Amino acid sequence: MKRVYMDHSATTPVDYEVVRVMTETLTNNFGNPSSLHAFGEEARQALLKARKQLAALISADISEIVFTSGGTEANNMAIIGAAQARKNRGKHLITSAIEHHAVLNTFQSLQNEGFDLTVLPVNMVGQIDPQDLQNAIREDTILVSLMHANNEIGTIQMIPALGEICRSRGIIFHTDAVQTVGRIPIDVKELTVDLLSLSAHKFYGPKGVGALYVRNGVQINPLIYGGGQESKQRSGTENIPGIVGMGKAAELAEKYMPQRLEHLQLLGQTLFNRIMNEIPEAYLTGHPGARLPGHISLVFPGIEGQSLLTFLDAEGIAASGGAACSSNSFAVSHVLKALSIREEVAASSLRLSMGKDNSIEDIDYVMDVLPKLVERMKLLWVLQ
Ligand SMILES: *Cc1c(COP(=O)(O)O)cnc(C)c1O
Repeated sequence: MKRVYMDHSATTPVDYEVVRVMTETLTNNFGNPSSLHAFGEEARQALLKARKQLAALISADISEIVFTSGGTEANNMAIIGAAQARKNRGKHLITSAIEHHAVLNTFQSLQNEGFDLTVLPVNMVGQIDPQDLQNAIREDTILVSLMHANNEIGTIQMIPALGEICRSRGIIFHTDAVQTVGRIPIDVKELTVDLLSLSAHKFYGPKGVGALYVRNGVQINPLIYGGGQESKQRSGTENIPGIVGMGKAAELAEKYMPQRLEHLQLLGQTLFNRIMNEIPEAYLTGHPGARLPGHISLVFPGIEGQSLLTFLDAEGIAASGGAACSSNSFAVSHVLKALSIREEVAASSLRLSMGKDNSIEDIDYVMDVLPKLVERMKLLWVLQ
């Protein structure tokens, strides 16, 4: 059976070049970078090389990169670390309604500890109005965290404008850029951010490794204490193979960025046009223009999204929806809810997120399967 992977916003396959350098590191470079002997020095060199590769990808300085165990830890570290470091100046925090749970639940924990939280709304295509941010800022606001691109609906936020507002008021600004780093060009200075989270497994690197960009001069409290690695900001012996793999993935992302972007834009446009022409029930969610390349998020009113995903999976097509299923109860996506989409409609969501290895043939296959499935399921829904 043909298999088509269109769930790159969940995770990406590890690039062969990345596997090669990771295997090489695991095999021949096992030293502890804190050791003073030659084995330690080799590990230190590998760490430095990866730091340079990653810093180059986002136009940061090597002193501004803190390696973490992934995007979730980077978000926790940014939010808790910044809030704790500034709690004597104020207790007010700002985020948005469409953040990843690694951000939302972290803010929730701070709220439980006595911080004040404002959650900004988004418009029908998932964008934050900079005026809403202006209005939400108070004398005691110490931290703002707004994501770069949303994983479910692909909408890209106007981060430079939002960052500018925070900077002019002296407020720390964090962005969860896990969906954009390695996929679209990123320059931390253009974005006007103080803190930025990223994760290797979203750009063809390994799982369990990521980083937090901490702008020079910005102080945050550590989340993890110990031997003082990563300039005392994140203790624990470094995950050298993972970090080396992320460095290689960053190097490849920078090198092939123009080709990958062009390819994904073509695939995205082709799939979107075909769906709009061939499936009358389909509606795009998120922003039509300002969105991740190759990311198509849809709702099919009158169709049960979970079943659609199951049927697609049976045909070898891996995609995902907006609804998170836990212990038999289907929770409607907080992101689609924030777009004011009705609950019944939100339950019909489908996300097709393509990657560098997808092809026009993959789209042909999806379009052989999807329109017929939607047609059949519409009938099922009517008859039940
Ligand atoms: C995947 C993802 C995360 C979590 O990153 P992990 O490395 O899997 O912990 C956080 N935020 C966004 C937007 C993501 O897409």
